[in-house]
Amino acid sequence: MIPSFLAECKCGFLVVFAVGRPTPKNRYTFYAPAVCLDCGEFFLRNYCSVFIKCPKCRKKAHFYDEPFLHSKEIAVGTVVSWLVDEERRFILYKKNYLCPKCKQFSMKFFGGGILVD
Ligand SMILES: [Zn+2]
Ligand SMILES: [Zn+2]
Repeated sequence: MIPSFLAECKCGFLVVFAVGRPTPKNRYTFYAPAVCLDCGEFFLRNYCSVFIKCPKCRKKAHFYDEPFLHSKEIAVGTVVSWLVDEERRFILYKKNYLCPKCKQFSMKFFGGGILVD
Protein backbone atom coordinates (compact mmCIF):
# COMPACT_ATOMS: atom_id res chain seq x y z
CA MET A 1 0.00 0.00 0.00
CA ILE A 2 1.57 3.23 -1.12
CA PRO A 3 0.03 6.71 -1.13
CA SER A 4 -1.56 7.92 -4.31
CA PHE A 5 -1.46 11.33 -5.92
CA LEU A 6 -3.18 13.27 -8.64
CA ALA A 7 -1.79 15.28 -11.52
CA GLU A 8 -4.38 17.64 -12.93
CA CYS A 9 -4.35 20.37 -15.56
CA LYS A 10 -6.90 22.97 -16.66
CA CYS A 11 -6.94 21.37 -20.13
CA GLY A 12 -8.57 18.23 -18.74
CA PHE A 13 -5.46 16.15 -18.25
CA LEU A 14 -5.94 14.03 -15.13
CA VAL A 15 -4.02 11.07 -13.86
CA VAL A 16 -3.95 9.19 -10.56
CA PHE A 17 -0.64 7.63 -9.68
CA ALA A 18 1.29 6.24 -6.73
CA VAL A 19 4.68 7.45 -5.55
CA GLY A 20 7.09 5.51 -3.41
CA ARG A 21 8.44 2.08 -2.75
CA PRO A 22 6.46 -1.04 -3.53
CA THR A 23 7.52 -2.36 -0.10
CA PRO A 24 9.49 -0.54 2.65
CA LYS A 25 12.36 -3.01 2.31
CA ASN A 26 12.75 -2.44 -1.40
CA ARG A 27 15.53 0.15 -1.16
CA TYR A 28 16.39 0.28 -4.84
CA THR A 29 12.94 0.82 -6.20
CA PHE A 30 11.14 4.11 -5.86
CA TYR A 31 8.34 4.93 -8.28
CA ALA A 32 8.17 8.54 -9.35
CA PRO A 33 6.23 10.34 -12.10
CA ALA A 34 8.01 11.01 -15.36
CA VAL A 35 7.16 12.49 -18.72
CA CYS A 36 8.14 12.14 -22.35
CA LEU A 37 8.08 15.50 -24.09
CA ASP A 38 8.16 13.90 -27.52
CA CYS A 39 4.89 12.00 -27.38
CA GLY A 40 3.39 13.42 -24.19
CA GLU A 41 3.32 10.17 -22.25
CA PHE A 42 3.01 10.45 -18.43
CA PHE A 43 4.26 7.35 -16.63
CA LEU A 44 5.98 6.03 -13.51
CA ARG A 45 9.56 4.87 -13.40
CA ASN A 46 12.08 3.79 -10.83
CA TYR A 47 13.80 6.96 -9.59
CA CYS A 48 16.92 4.92 -8.78
CA SER A 49 17.56 4.42 -12.50
CA VAL A 50 19.77 7.10 -13.99
CA PHE A 51 18.42 7.13 -17.54
CA ILE A 52 14.81 6.58 -18.32
CA LYS A 53 13.08 6.01 -21.62
CA CYS A 54 9.52 6.56 -22.69
CA PRO A 55 7.55 3.27 -22.68
CA LYS A 56 5.77 4.37 -25.86
CA CYS A 57 8.33 5.96 -28.19
CA ARG A 58 11.59 4.90 -26.43
CA LYS A 59 12.98 8.45 -26.41
CA LYS A 60 14.74 9.93 -23.37
CA ALA A 61 12.23 10.88 -20.68
CA HIS A 62 12.42 13.07 -17.58
CA PHE A 63 11.38 12.79 -13.96
CA TYR A 64 9.06 15.52 -12.80
CA ASP A 65 11.57 16.91 -10.31
CA GLU A 66 13.79 18.21 -13.12
CA PRO A 67 13.81 22.02 -12.84
CA PHE A 68 12.91 22.71 -16.48
CA LEU A 69 9.54 20.99 -15.94
CA HIS A 70 8.67 23.48 -13.14
CA SER A 71 7.14 26.90 -13.64
CA LYS A 72 9.23 29.83 -12.39
CA GLU A 73 6.79 30.77 -9.61
CA ILE A 74 7.69 30.25 -5.94
CA ALA A 75 6.21 27.06 -4.53
CA VAL A 76 3.73 27.40 -1.67
CA GLY A 77 4.81 24.12 -0.13
CA THR A 78 5.47 20.52 -1.04
CA VAL A 79 3.09 17.78 -2.13
CA VAL A 80 5.59 15.05 -1.45
CA SER A 81 9.16 15.06 -0.17
CA TRP A 82 10.61 11.60 0.10
CA LEU A 83 14.13 10.50 0.99
CA VAL A 84 15.01 7.99 -1.74
CA ASP A 85 18.53 7.21 -0.51
CA GLU A 86 21.24 8.91 1.55
CA GLU A 87 21.74 11.63 -1.05
CA ARG A 88 18.59 12.06 -3.03
CA ARG A 89 15.19 13.31 -2.12
CA PHE A 90 12.26 13.25 -4.53
CA ILE A 91 10.17 16.41 -4.16
CA LEU A 92 7.02 17.61 -5.85
CA TYR A 93 6.09 21.19 -5.03
CA LYS A 94 2.76 22.96 -4.78
CA LYS A 95 3.26 24.86 -8.02
CA ASN A 96 2.62 24.53 -11.73
CA TYR A 97 4.37 21.94 -13.86
CA LEU A 98 4.57 21.35 -17.58
CA CYS A 99 1.48 19.47 -18.74
CA PRO A 100 2.19 16.60 -21.16
CA LYS A 101 -1.09 17.20 -22.96
CA CYS A 102 -1.35 20.98 -23.57
CA LYS A 103 2.38 21.71 -23.02
CA GLN A 104 1.58 24.67 -20.74
CA PHE A 105 2.81 25.24 -17.19
CA SER A 106 -0.64 24.66 -15.78
CA MET A 107 -0.53 21.16 -14.31
CA LYS A 108 -0.53 20.69 -10.54
CA PHE A 109 0.17 17.73 -8.28
CA PHE A 110 -2.09 16.88 -5.35
CA GLY A 111 -1.50 14.43 -2.56
CA GLY A 112 -4.71 12.57 -1.98
CA GLY A 113 -3.59 10.67 1.05
CA ILE A 114 -5.60 7.85 -0.52
CA LEU A 115 -4.10 4.40 -0.31
CA VAL A 116 -3.90 2.16 -3.33
CA ASP A 117 -4.00 -1.64 -3.02
ZN1 LIG B 1 7.44 9.15 -25.81
ZN1 LIG C 1 -2.76 20.69 -19.83
